[in-house]
Amino acid sequence: MSESEHGSGHGLRLFGKTIPLYVQILIALLLGVGLGILLGAGQPSPQAALIAKDLAIPCSLVLKALRALATPLILLAVLHSFLTTNIPGRAGRRLAVLLLTNTLAAILIGLLVANVLQPGKWERLTLPADAETVTKSFDPWGLLESSVPEAVLKPLVDNNVIQLIVLALAFGIVLRGLKNKQIAEGKTDYVAVEQFVTIFFEAVIRILMWVILLVPVAVFGIVAKTVTLQGFSPFKALGAFIIAVLLALFLQGCYYLVRVKLGSWITPKRFLTGGSDALLTAFSTASSTATMPVTFRGLLEKVGLRESSASLGALVGSNFNNDGTALYEAMSALFIGQVLGLNLNLEQQLVVILTSIFASVGAAGIPEAGLVTMTLVFTAVGLPTQYIALLITVDWFLDRCRTALNVMGDMTVSCLLDGKERKQELEPGLEEVLMPEVD
Ligand code: ASP
Repeated sequence: MSESEHGSGHGLRLFGKTIPLYVQILIALLLGVGLGILLGAGQPSPQAALIAKDLAIPCSLVLKALRALATPLILLAVLHSFLTTNIPGRAGRRLAVLLLTNTLAAILIGLLVANVLQPGKWERLTLPADAETVTKSFDPWGLLESSVPEAVLKPLVDNNVIQLIVLALAFGIVLRGLKNKQIAEGKTDYVAVEQFVTIFFEAVIRILMWVILLVPVAVFGIVAKTVTLQGFSPFKALGAFIIAVLLALFLQGCYYLVRVKLGSWITPKRFLTGGSDALLTAFSTASSTATMPVTFRGLLEKVGLRESSASLGALVGSNFNNDGTALYEAMSALFIGQVLGLNLNLEQQLVVILTSIFASVGAAGIPEAGLVTMTLVFTAVGLPTQYIALLITVDWFLDRCRTALNVMGDMTVSCLLDGKERKQELEPGLEEVLMPEVD
């Protein structure tokens, strides 16, 4: 998919100029604050309170649409990756282990920071009257038992992320096997299925883009409503959340540098200098998919990796590997739990870990995709998804930061796959062209 579709495709055109999405959101935020102050800033008149309630409608519509799109998006993203990417067997297993350990590290760092700093307790928020609270009791074995869906379409209907991933993996593995068999036999029936999945995947992403276009309106409404009814205290709470997320992302970045230093021939300095274009592109587009070509080129030409390692990490990793998103989703669940005074216990946090892994695998590498799959994490632990609305107001910024981390994670995996010694590529012709000395 083209860069404009993923990265900068959210511009609103005004007087011949494109206003990027984050500027629109910033403007919406300011206008929302202004209206909230006009309507009473925490002490609204009964009339203003009524208006404020209606202001939340665009936001709940956006959240509903995101929830509805989440399951097809995950299913199609996983099927698409299985059908269209080529991973050699041994490297594939190594890749899977690296991806899993890095994602687990990210989630654990996120949970650690959220448990230690407790950003949700810095400021108390009132629970909206219509929010359901956590009442389920959590049972990991029950979770395992319920990971197999009762009917094939049920996970899609129930928005059950764990069942959905089980289904997607089963179909993905089988379809890939059939494709390989058919290629060996010179048959081409699989092409139709591959095209079908690719087109539907693109279609869901395009609809998602429409929804994302509405995010500024949603932010305006929810900020105006929140300021009108509760004043500024919710935003103080969000300040604490931003600090906690940035700290966790920073620690995860340090973890990558240590892994690269210990597990590959690349020095952290070379890694950061060679990857700087990719990291900056990720921050400015908020899309790891749009950044993918830059990441790949940086790894090949500036860091100097073999083509096979660069492509496995950057191209495959950018589909599956979203550590920054996993960290963010886990922290958001804990944060909202703390804000509501519902501390998630150990088992609930285990559910958060498990669902965040799946949710990050399923998150597409496009702006705000983490918000889509976050609804599934919240549902799994029984947290009210209305609170994601609060996070939308700061997501334009945190999305950029976690996207940079997602890309850094892909780069790390590539470096680790390249190994401790700088080896020559199997096809030396390509190597000479693509691997000039850089230091
Ligand atoms: N924007 C992120 C990415 O492209 C996904 C997310 O929203 O977390 O990697």
